[in-house]
Amino acid sequence: MGIGYILIGVGHFLLGMRDILNDFTSIVIGNPMIILGVILVYRGLFRFIGIVPKLETRLIFLFIPLLAGLLYYYKFQVPDINARMILFSLTYSTLCFIPAFGLWKHKKEYFNVQINLLITMYLAMGFFHGFRLIRTTREDQLLNFMDAGSIHAIAVIASEILVIMTSFMTIWIGTDKLQRKLSIMARTDPLTQLYNRRTFEEECDIEFSRARRKKSPFSIIICDLDLFKNINDQYGHQVGDEVLKIFSDTLRNHVRKHDVVARYGGEEFVILLPETDSKSATVVAEYIRQKTLSATVRDPDGSTGVSFSASFGVSSYYHDDDWMAVLKRADKALYSAKENGRNRVVAS
Ligand code: GH3
Ligand code: MG
Ligand code: MG
Repeated sequence: MGIGYILIGVGHFLLGMRDILNDFTSIVIGNPMIILGVILVYRGLFRFIGIVPKLETRLIFLFIPLLAGLLYYYKFQVPDINARMILFSLTYSTLCFIPAFGLWKHKKEYFNVQINLLITMYLAMGFFHGFRLIRTTREDQLLNFMDAGSIHAIAVIASEILVIMTSFMTIWIGTDKLQRKLSIMARTDPLTQLYNRRTFEEECDIEFSRARRKKSPFSIIICDLDLFKNINDQYGHQVGDEVLKIFSDTLRNHVRKHDVVARYGGEEFVILLPETDSKSATVVAEYIRQKTLSATVRDPDGSTGVSFSASFGVSSYYHDDDWMAVLKRADKALYSAKENGRNRVVAS
């Protein structure tokens, strides 16, 4: 995009210096340079938004030698300034409709406002250059582009608008992207990609209010890997981390979409199950416990698989004053699961 902006600027500079520079540099190089700039800007913009330019769009660069050749022809072989302006407007207009169409087709999950504004701008530019094209076909032969009338002057300003709009949108989209990334980072645990403790507590606040208002149940499962310190000691921290990741996947893959799974601390995890009573939550915990037993992680030699187990404590909301009371009960149940030999589910 940066190179595109420079080319648009230099291209216009070459056009403006027509009285000083020779016509070849000013016309045959200046105009295609602007067009190349416009292409680079929209392709850069696409990449920045996350739209993958399709292979065939590379053919777009063929516009450049084609345009340069035709401009040369209409300057030095059959001089015709109107033909040159029609050519330029046709190319510019096409190169505005293409990104407008690409943006419109793009699946819009985020950056809706910015993408819609960009589509509007590209469409306006496309129509403007189309209008200029039609106007030029009806005009008498122009003698000099630099004092050819307001529509041609506006064409120069239009390029500036394109530069300003695309760069402004880039900054706007960039800020949004950063904000999104920061929000994800603040809410998730980097190792397991599960929610972190803070997010879990926020979700519990929301769920507790909802459950009390609607007089519906919710449950909390708290689980802790068994003798995890031994895994670290025996196989090293990296294998320990791998176990944490695999266990996290097991949790994530065996709950419903609206259940909240979080890493509560080191090797301790929590699941908030809205609209779920203790009996159903116990079934979920038991299922996860069994699935955990069949998961393995390769040890550093790659020879044997490291298997592991976890203990679970389950509790449900029952006339409690806050969700912390539910969590405390689940924690007590977990403690009793550990006391009674680990690798088991205890509900309280
Ligand atoms: P228990 O069955 O009673 O829970 O025994 P345990 O060994 O799992 O419990 P303990 O609390 O003694 O040890 C927890 C270990 O978890 C100690 C700590 O080094 C390890 N741990 C905590 N966070 C991480 C981590 O992010 N990565 C790795 N590899 N280890 C971690
Ligand atoms: Mg443990
Ligand atoms: Mg622990």
